Amino acid sequence: MSFDLNSLLRPHIAKLQPYTSARDEYTGKEGVFLDANENPFGSITEQDFNRYPDPYQSALKEEIAKIKGVRPSQIFLGNGSDEAIDLLYRAFCNPGKDNVILLPPTYGMYEVSANINDVEIRKVALTPDFQLQPEKILAAADANSKILFICSPNNPSANKAKREDILYLLEKFPGLVVVDEAYIDFSDEPSFTTELDRFPNLLVMQTFSKAWGLASLRLGMAFASEELIRILNKIKPPYNISGLTQETVLAAIKDKAKVDRMIQDILAEREFLNGELEKLPFVQKTHPSHANFLLVQIPNANQVYNDLIEEKIIVRNRAKVLLCADCLRITVGTREENEALLKALSKVCS
Ligand SMILES: *Cc1c(COP(=O)(O)O)cnc(C)c1O
Repeated sequence: MSFDLNSLLRPHIAKLQPYTSARDEYTGKEGVFLDANENPFGSITEQDFNRYPDPYQSALKEEIAKIKGVRPSQIFLGNGSDEAIDLLYRAFCNPGKDNVILLPPTYGMYEVSANINDVEIRKVALTPDFQLQPEKILAAADANSKILFICSPNNPSANKAKREDILYLLEKFPGLVVVDEAYIDFSDEPSFTTELDRFPNLLVMQTFSKAWGLASLRLGMAFASEELIRILNKIKPPYNISGLTQETVLAAIKDKAKVDRMIQDILAEREFLNGELEKLPFVQKTHPSHANFLLVQIPNANQVYNDLIEEKIIVRNRAKVLLCADCLRITVGTREENEALLKALSKVCS
């Protein structure tokens, strides 16, 4: 299928003259910098933060490109994945006119961000075993369907979508296909970043919030064609990633072996927790997980959820979510945390 990114783009964004920051014109490191109204004396903190950060995060993107097997020009960095989601709506979806396709049960921000931007949502449910329905998705789409959001591994169901279904949709869907891989580090599935050169309508999202343990820093990644990344860069706030975040993550990437060890530890704990939950007579089902959480079906989940809070164990109640009746979403914790959960569950369910 031929794909023309410009025909999807909102016309005023195509014409937009972006903000040019003081550091766009001179990129040298040496000089007397009197261009950005910064404080020349330093900061009130021990570490200096008085200079504006690199708006395009070039050093950080160089390193991310190496570990992800993409080119730096194919990377967008956002203040969390949530910023990338919002920018996609603002770039491509005309309020009151265009629509997006969401596949419930799935991550809540796609819907909230659509509502903030006054964009119509068309929902095509997953099957009862949480797989995509490609023909129904295509039947729901029309010329105003700008984005299809696929979350794989999916939150809250924890499973991965079939690769051939995503590839089929990449070939047939008329708009952008976003594959949200927030949990890919916990799966044996290869990333869709390997398909970027084949599909100009593909955008892959990943995050530093989960496997890397950096949720508080707020750093999300989007990988796509250079053309699409240029659009996101054009409309983002100029200094959307703080200097502290850029520096901290740059240092963290040098110690990637530590992340790999943490992932192995989480996978081992997932195995432990899953096994122990399945031994409990009142647990009806633990769904197979490719993520760092388990979706667990327990009778009277609402009551169990509230009783667990009394025991100071906080899980996510998904009982009211489509296809998730009586389900709790439980993040894999440390061994001590998992044992505390199991003990509390046995107490409140006995
Ligand atoms: C946690 C999560 C994210 C991460 O969002 P950030 O804004 O990067 O913290 C993205 N997508 C899904 C499906 C998630 O569950």
